[in-house]
Amino acid sequence: MVAYCDDESRYVVVNQTMADWFQVEIDTLIGKTPWDLYGDEMAERMEPRIAQVLSGDRIDFEGTRQFPNGRIRNLNISLMPDIGAGGIVSGYFVLATDITDRKIAEEKLALLAYQDALTGVTNRRRFAEVCADEIARSQRYKHPLSLAICDLDHFKFVNDSYGHDVGDIVLKEFANICLEVARHQIDRVARLGGEEFVLLLPETSIDGALILAERLRQQCHEHVFDPTRTALGVTTSIGITEWHADEVNMAPALKRADRALYTAKDKGRNKIIAG
Ligand code: GH3
Ligand code: MG
Ligand code: MG
Repeated sequence: MVAYCDDESRYVVVNQTMADWFQVEIDTLIGKTPWDLYGDEMAERMEPRIAQVLSGDRIDFEGTRQFPNGRIRNLNISLMPDIGAGGIVSGYFVLATDITDRKIAEEKLALLAYQDALTGVTNRRRFAEVCADEIARSQRYKHPLSLAICDLDHFKFVNDSYGHDVGDIVLKEFANICLEVARHQIDRVARLGGEEFVLLLPETSIDGALILAERLRQQCHEHVFDPTRTALGVTTSIGITEWHADEVNMAPALKRADRALYTAKDKGRNKIIAG
């Protein structure tokens, strides 16, 4: 979009793109100001930049603008002063490029960077950040926080007997069971690596973690994995623990849960141990 405004921010020249964005004829835009086109609230926010360009500075920035039918565009905007003889600024040029598609693509990429590629649950790196946030919140409100680490039992046998593809299907289905058991928008399911998953349980003491882990253990035990081909039964061992209020990061709790998990393995698997 290209436009020229005079020193009172009236549009003197506008191109067809601007007319298209406002869904009007070019003529109807001439003589209008940002106040007329964008409304008081938005125009007031634009005012400092208008003042800056009228003082002789070129400015480049990104912004969002709302157009007819509520359509919001992300724009890359340049304002360039029209400096005449004697340094007088008689107006300014506006160049705006619609970067909405790029912004959407960037947001999608950012989401992907947080996800485990196979199962779509939170990945290990992002999980560390989520833990830090949840610890800060639990400290602030003095609320309990627990975790459950799950490791599939004899998973190597699944891979060796049925192939890696079937192993991958089992991992995806197990991730879905975790998501079903977890409380929507409260708990966080992450894949720590291989066939090891973790559930972070805000507002939950060890008793609550045990109830949830038992539900998870049972649903995994009863689930028929890859039903149309191999119809496998797979179990999980789970180590649970509660974060202690004096722990500044999740490392000690992860260690306790991990130790508890291996005790569950030692005791015959398909079990939950609290650590
Ligand atoms: P345990 O009951 O003691 O946990 O025995 P296990 O066989 O599950 O344990 P182990 O750690 O020996 O085996 C884990 C297996 O997980 C080995 C590895 O090949 C497999 N694995 C790790 N990541 C993936 C993956 O992304 N896809 C598949 N299909 N397999 C994976
Ligand atoms: Mg295992
Ligand atoms: Mg393992």
